[in-house]
Amino acid sequence: MDSDNNSSDSFIKKDIEKFSGKIIAVANQKGGVGKTITAINIAAYFASYGYKTILIDMDPQSNATSGLGFSQDKIKISTYSLIIYSEDPDKAILNTQYENLKLIPSTKQLSGAEVELVTVFKREFRLKEAIQKLEENYDFIIIDCPPSLGLITINALSAAKDILIPIQCSYFALEGVTQLLNIIDMVKRSLNVKLEVQGVFMTMYSRSNLADGIINEIKNYFGDKFYNSIIPKNVRLDESASHGKPIIAFDKNAKGAKAYDELAKEIISRYKNQIQKQGY
Ligand code: ATP
Ligand code: MG
Repeated sequence: MDSDNNSSDSFIKKDIEKFSGKIIAVANQKGGVGKTITAINIAAYFASYGYKTILIDMDPQSNATSGLGFSQDKIKISTYSLIIYSEDPDKAILNTQYENLKLIPSTKQLSGAEVELVTVFKREFRLKEAIQKLEENYDFIIIDCPPSLGLITINALSAAKDILIPIQCSYFALEGVTQLLNIIDMVKRSLNVKLEVQGVFMTMYSRSNLADGIINEIKNYFGDKFYNSIIPKNVRLDESASHGKPIIAFDKNAKGAKAYDELAKEIISRYKNQIQKQGY
């Protein structure tokens, strides 16, 4: 076994670990920044380390659903059914081909929820109520958010405990982040006091002075919330999604695979540190 495998071994979940119920929303209202690729791949790496993981697709585009190889037309019970009809989440769960990894899929029907929810009682808490019973059965519950700050995202932020924010390495990187932070603050004050930004990380990096300057700017802005793992622009990631597979199953030696593996490990390490500090 090489040294890389040895270091990975230390991330395998141990039975004694109290690790359940980490509910993480992957959010950024800016489109195409890598939310879905991140949600799929960190979920797959968490699962590969033995953590019971469920990915919840809260985007009507259903990219997380197709990215795990499921086709929309075969789906009967989805996130829409959960938040509009209070359907039992266990009925919506799909087994993926990967051990420890499950999916609650979405279909384009979910786009209607944005309007339908407006008149619903406790409309911001529909997802939270729907997935409450999953908390004790899963270590990680990852929610892939749509590129908007409407009621679907608000539902995700009300249900989550933590937020991961992918930021694309581009000139307009910070555009919209302030608005996102304001919304997070609003949700924290009025709907979900426990909500925290767990981390911010850069996606689609390709080396240039401009990209390096942007990374420094974001790093200074977010301080210890900044993750050191930087996701490179890597066509294998794009290809893996189009083949309906996480990168670990598509090309585990690709640069993008190594980067998402590192990010997943960094997230696990941060949680372990937090758990240690809290003393349980
Ligand atoms: P949306 O806001 O529409 O939901 P998103 O933030 O979820 O988008 P993704 O769908 O994950 O973004 O990524 C946008 C596109 O870029 C996809 O085609 C994806 O496969 C591709 N992509 C994401 N990350 C990378 C990367 N690191 N390298 C190359 N391609 C990538
Ligand atoms: Mg997406």
